[in-house]
Amino acid sequence: MSYLNIRNVIKSYNNRDNIIKNLSLTVDKGEFLVIVGPSGCGKSTLLRMIAGLEDINSGEIEINGEIINDIPPADRNIAIVFQNYALYPHMNVERNLSYGLKNRKVPKNEIAMRVKDISKLLQIEELLKRKPSELSGGQRQRVAMGRAIIREPKIFLFDEPLSNLDAKLRNQMRIEIRKLHDKLKITSVYVTHDQVEAMTLADRIVVLNNGIIEQVGTPDEIYNTPQSLFVSKFMGTPPMNIFRSEINEDIANLFGKKLKLNHNINNNKAYIGIRPEDISLEDIKESVKVEINIDMVEKLGSESLIYANINNHNFIVKTNLKIDKNLKSINIYIDSRKLYLFSVKDEKLIKKFEAPL
Ligand code: ADP
Repeated sequence: MSYLNIRNVIKSYNNRDNIIKNLSLTVDKGEFLVIVGPSGCGKSTLLRMIAGLEDINSGEIEINGEIINDIPPADRNIAIVFQNYALYPHMNVERNLSYGLKNRKVPKNEIAMRVKDISKLLQIEELLKRKPSELSGGQRQRVAMGRAIIREPKIFLFDEPLSNLDAKLRNQMRIEIRKLHDKLKITSVYVTHDQVEAMTLADRIVVLNNGIIEQVGTPDEIYNTPQSLFVSKFMGTPPMNIFRSEINEDIANLFGKKLKLNHNINNNKAYIGIRPEDISLEDIKESVKVEINIDMVEKLGSESLIYANINNHNFIVKTNLKIDKNLKSINIYIDSRKLYLFSVKDEKLIKKFEAPL
């Protein structure tokens, strides 16, 4: 099993602004690390630098303690799976799988054995004689993964591999990728803009914003204790509701109501965050009651999303109570023990309040 160390890496294209800004990160042995962030934040650039497809301006990338900055991509023993599969169209599945091994002069009987094992693992045994054009999107993606795994790489990289698939297949392939990882334990770095993919696949998530790491943590840590306003808004569907609030000692002013926070603040302003699922429609202890105007109710089956506004602040409530679609207003209860406070100055987390169990 291999580990990856990225140290103080800086990257710019054509001497323009830095795309990756002094980034350091370690991927542990056998770990599945997901890098998530909005489009253009530098995810693919980072992955391509690990693969050696892009030079770096400064810093070091190491595999198992060895600096690989100057090692050409083909000699890094890193496999990469792209969203467009990059299969050879004129070769059948079997040849697509075996091509790389043949080039490396792996003995014929060993190639045959590995093709057999891999196609069984990925359940593509029936497809070996077909050309890529005769496969569905999901089958192509499986072959692309097979081709990557068959080389027994030290590190497995995924660049938004599921973006071209429809929603149902994407869910299915996501589960398959995670199961495959649990079996093979190849150290993996997976890039996506989709926070649901990040939450469900990752051992640890890296939230990247504008070439800088906002936070590294397990999916639970990222969701439950977002360290910045950016992470709180980016992770979670629907995202956290954020309101700017005046705060006097430990009393916040929320929509004209006073909310006791049990925490004194030096600054007299803060952002208050509340997850849509933490807003209650039933009276609870230590909460503040507010009447809201409902813009729309979206039924999701077992849950409903209420899109609402108070004094022109939009926000969302998630509830598993039955809600009449035509309801125009409703009382909500904001529990002061389930809030997040973020600094107005640097947008970092000041405090997370937790209700006692
Ligand atoms: P992401 O994968 O997060 O969408 P990218 O790493 O692809 O982001 O791109 C990050 C930034 O670098 C973007 O602003 C993009 O326009 C720029 N960029 C990417 N590749 C090149 C390139 N080859 N030349 C110049 N700019 C590039």
